[in-house]
Amino acid sequence: MSVFSHKEFDQHEQISFFHDKETGMRAIIALHSTVLGPALGGCRLWAYENDEAAVKDVLRLSKGMTYKAAITGLPLGGGKSVMIGDKKTKTADMMRAMGRAVDAMGGRYIVAEDVGTTVEDMSHINSMTRHVVGISHGAGSGDPSPTTALGVFTGLKAAVRFRLGRNDLKGLKVAVQGLGNVGYNLCRHLHEAGAQLFVTDMAPDRVDMASREFGAMPVALNSIYDVDADVFAPCALGGIINDETLPRLKAKVVAGAANNQLAEARHGDMLRRAEILYAPDYLVNAGGLISVYYEHLARQTGKAYDRQAVLDQVAKIDATATSIFEMADKEDISCGTAADRIAEGRFTKRETCKAA
Ligand code: NAD
Repeated sequence: MSVFSHKEFDQHEQISFFHDKETGMRAIIALHSTVLGPALGGCRLWAYENDEAAVKDVLRLSKGMTYKAAITGLPLGGGKSVMIGDKKTKTADMMRAMGRAVDAMGGRYIVAEDVGTTVEDMSHINSMTRHVVGISHGAGSGDPSPTTALGVFTGLKAAVRFRLGRNDLKGLKVAVQGLGNVGYNLCRHLHEAGAQLFVTDMAPDRVDMASREFGAMPVALNSIYDVDADVFAPCALGGIINDETLPRLKAKVVAGAANNQLAEARHGDMLRRAEILYAPDYLVNAGGLISVYYEHLARQTGKAYDRQAVLDQVAKIDATATSIFEMADKEDISCGTAADRIAEGRFTKRETCKAA
């Protein structure tokens, strides 16, 4: 299995492998960059097919966190951890072993929840290390999803203003794919702003709820791309802007919460050619990261969690999105490329900081 010559290896600073004999805990922590600060990123627990798949995931995910923190203007680096295992056989002792692994990173890595891990897991980790966020007690910030939804709403409004020249959302048609923790909260904001909603989800009860609460129009799973909407908001899966779906889109704006919406970078260029404005996913879905960053700060300083500072930082997504759209137009590049360049300009410049 290759690491340094792996195709997802991108100058990562550190990749550490952990094993705990007592519990069988196996984990990898990857720090892509700590140029801007300690690397904050979730711990994913997944039944990876093999070690190679786990390495690939942790390399890719940790790099994504560097870009997300940098574009959002947070003093954080990018890192991520993966635990190899099944969430059905996860134990508190295993999470404590993971806590010791996180602690061994000496504060260069701060862990949070991700797919397969919970707030409860973070409190087990917290019994072994203070380098953890997303806990529910003390200075804990709780569920980050409503803040993520607020950030998506902020980015979506900026994109609508830029592409459609309007400041209000009254009567704006928005097609939302996925009514989970983020998608549903986004619908609430959109409904309150007067938008007309078209929604789909694998779970029929979520669709029923949105119809009742927001007067949303239900749409079949695979028909969401064909809706004659002004905005398409992907809030479920990655890779959904691809060769098959892109030509079907009627929307002039794509802005949603899902990670890695573009199947490949070239789909960003294709969106631009089709005159569809794409609000880069890793910027507009950064509200959750902003929320846990302020939890980290509160724990470091012993002060209370500053919700107003979180809201102020989330509001900045508007200006950042607008500068990305302007740069894309000026340089005739995709919005994804523009966002990457701005982020890279930030995290390749400064000197590496010491552990927090
Ligand atoms: P979630 O699991 O609560 O919700 C996802 C929803 O999508 C579920 O209701 C599910 O039934 C639905 N879904 C799955 N496949 C679908 C399909 N093919 N068509 C339609 N609906 C489908 O997840 P979430 O926390 O709301 O996150 C949504 C997306 O945003 C994910 O891609 C996640 O990685 C990303 N994201 C979330 C956060 C956060 O704070 N929760 C932060 C950043 C990014």
